[in-house]
Amino acid sequence: MSSFSLDIRTLAVVLILVSMVLGITLLLIWRTRKTYPGFGLWAAGNGVYALGFLLIALRGMVPDLLSIVLANILLLCAVALFLEGVRCFVKGACGRCTVNASLIAVAALLFVYYTVVDDSISARIIVFSMFSALFFGLGAWELIRKAPLDLRLSYWFTGISFATYGLVLVARTCFEIFGHPSRDLFAPDLFQTLTFLVPVLLGIAGTFGFMMLNSERLEGELKEAQAGLQHLATTDYLTGIANHRQFFESGEQEIQRARRYGRSLAVLMLDLDHFKQVNDTYGHAVGDGVLAAIAAAFRNLLRDIDIYGRLGGEEFAILLPETDMVGGRATAERLRSAIADTEINAGGATLHVTVSIGVALLSANDAGLEAVLKRADDAMYEAKRNGRNRVMAEPLPAVTGGTLPS
Ligand code: GH3
Ligand code: MG
Ligand code: MG
Repeated sequence: MSSFSLDIRTLAVVLILVSMVLGITLLLIWRTRKTYPGFGLWAAGNGVYALGFLLIALRGMVPDLLSIVLANILLLCAVALFLEGVRCFVKGACGRCTVNASLIAVAALLFVYYTVVDDSISARIIVFSMFSALFFGLGAWELIRKAPLDLRLSYWFTGISFATYGLVLVARTCFEIFGHPSRDLFAPDLFQTLTFLVPVLLGIAGTFGFMMLNSERLEGELKEAQAGLQHLATTDYLTGIANHRQFFESGEQEIQRARRYGRSLAVLMLDLDHFKQVNDTYGHAVGDGVLAAIAAAFRNLLRDIDIYGRLGGEEFAILLPETDMVGGRATAERLRSAIADTEINAGGATLHVTVSIGVALLSANDAGLEAVLKRADDAMYEAKRNGRNRVMAEPLPAVTGGTLPS
């Protein structure tokens, strides 16, 4: 076993310094960056770890109660802080940790016993290793079990670091019980080397794991927020369909496509009839409900490839790709009659509304969506002038009172 060993005191100093630097790094991130519950406990864990090993390194220079009992208790507290950090992070909030505190109290009594009554370094190593292995094992279990599908890497990486540390501690216990019990913590052999080397390596791995956990969750939240903003920027808040901006963006693209491939494209302008009266009679909330019902009719009656949006107020526009004038008028008529026949229940009121629709066809001369929309708008006003609740197509009246022209 003594075939491989590093200088143990040097390793102890490295371990203390590494834990300190990791603790300070986490502390700085915790104080200055967005972190989630548990992150502060990981920072504290590294600090307490450094302190515990500092006391161990001072063995012989300070009283045994400090360098043995307190040192072991501090190290165990550090591991418990790592575990609690994981629990807080996974749950999103920190709870009470009475079970851990009780376990540490039991371990503390055993440390006192195996120092003051029966001075046994081997027994202390077994007690420390078993309790730490339990904490690391619970942490690993928590991380691997709760790993969200999209954030698996950081959870598994940290979880495996915890599990490896736990397994090393179990192996250490087995060696103490079934192999050669330790007599000197600073003996230059493989096991004492590993006792200090493993915490250095897995401490670094675990700390990177904590930072990955935090930054991956942050990234996920930013992506969600971005998607939310995108939704807000493109969706009409009242009806849930495309807003003016989004309609024009998608519409211009569709127009370019239709032009390029010489496809026909019909454009509909739709305006509610006497909508002011609806508001005046039933109130604004009912009016809002009516607008939402109109959008629902679009969803039910139009194809997936059709593009529609609320341009503002009670005006809607619809783009029908791969559609000629006959198809455009038929669709407009279908919409008109479906809306007129629909009993709308909004804000406790039941009512019927009608719409006027203008239809225009994309022509080679149209500079863009605006031009063809303008002709559809003119046709729609023609429908208003002709008595409302009707479909009119450019350039001449085409349909009245719910029947298609022959
Ligand atoms: P016409 O048949 O000529 O279109 O008559 P109208 O009353 O529908 O037209 P007008 O332009 O006079 O009135 C439009 C009304 O639409 C006025 C306004 O109060 C209402 N309106 C606009 N935006 C909203 C909205 O977001 N919610 C509600 N409830 N009403 C709205
Ligand atoms: Mg109107
Ligand atoms: Mg209007």
